[in-house]
Amino acid sequence: MTEQRQERAVRAAQRPSRLVILGHPVAHSLSPVFQNAALLDAGIPVVYDREDVAPDALTEALRRLAAEGAGGNITIPHKEAAAALISRCTPTARRVGAVNTFWTEQGELVGHNTDVDGAVATIRALVPAEVSAPGDRSVVLLGAGGSAAATLVALSSLGYHRITMVARTTGRAHALSERLAIPAQVVRPDALERVVADAELVINATPIGLRDDALPMLVAMIPARCAVFDLVYRRGRTPWIAACREAGRRAEDGLRMLVEQGASAFEAWFDVLAPRAVMWRALDAAPPTHDGR
Ligand code: NAP
Repeated sequence: MTEQRQERAVRAAQRPSRLVILGHPVAHSLSPVFQNAALLDAGIPVVYDREDVAPDALTEALRRLAAEGAGGNITIPHKEAAAALISRCTPTARRVGAVNTFWTEQGELVGHNTDVDGAVATIRALVPAEVSAPGDRSVVLLGAGGSAAATLVALSSLGYHRITMVARTTGRAHALSERLAIPAQVVRPDALERVVADAELVINATPIGLRDDALPMLVAMIPARCAVFDLVYRRGRTPWIAACREAGRRAEDGLRMLVEQGASAFEAWFDVLAPRAVMWRALDAAPPTHDGR
């Protein structure tokens, strides 16, 4: 049996007793909506809950979840802290420096990162491989935080290497590119228009557009051939994605990334294919949350 199959066999034998998403705040999270629909569809008698955990209570919460044999997801603001607290992390979580998915093996938590899978799936959907070789395409990535790290790893794994990071705190972008060993040109926001003129894919990994209708950049700046990926998601699309589509650009918000990271997590917990269509239908049917997501 290969190492990977052995690991999966152990994991399948240790199906999580319960599933939980830890965040602060976490009431807006859509994960319970589509994960519970998937669990029901797959006939798995496990419930997926939300748990609001303040940063100073994270260590204790992780200890308790390990004792319970639980699994789940971790969201803002705990992903990086969890990577530091969980001693057994998969190589992907270690590389990104953030844990968004965990399970228990022999009483110990294992941390993983499926945001990378979510970003890979979205980029693949937006820019089909037959259009041009990834290595030839120029990508502009806005932001240098946790989700930018997962996106950089996704881009690198897909073969993109002409990457420009746009960050107001350029030191953070340089540090991220160096830590991940993924070379990137780093520019300040005042160079945005110049670098986007040459881009074939632009990605927003900042929270711009999450709480208001601010746009990460004007649609007129974006060349007609360029695809657009906004990690931010809101019910009924982000204003930027709506404007980009209206102007004829190929554009996706962060919902596919959300579903795909959740589907990958489901597959890690249960070693069965996630029912993606069920997940999408559950999201489509869910009433909007208080902040519009
Ligand atoms: P983060 O770690 O806090 O990083 C945010 C980054 O955005 C930082 O580089 C920050 O710059 C920059 N930024 C924030 N406000 C800005 C502004 N007004 N103008 C320019 N830059 C700004 O956050 P994160 O975890 O990477 O998440 C970013 C967003 O991605 C979230 O808001 C969320 O909506 C989205 N997300 C989506 C998914 C999904 O599944 N679709 C998954 C993860 C995240 P400074 O360093 O200068 O502060």
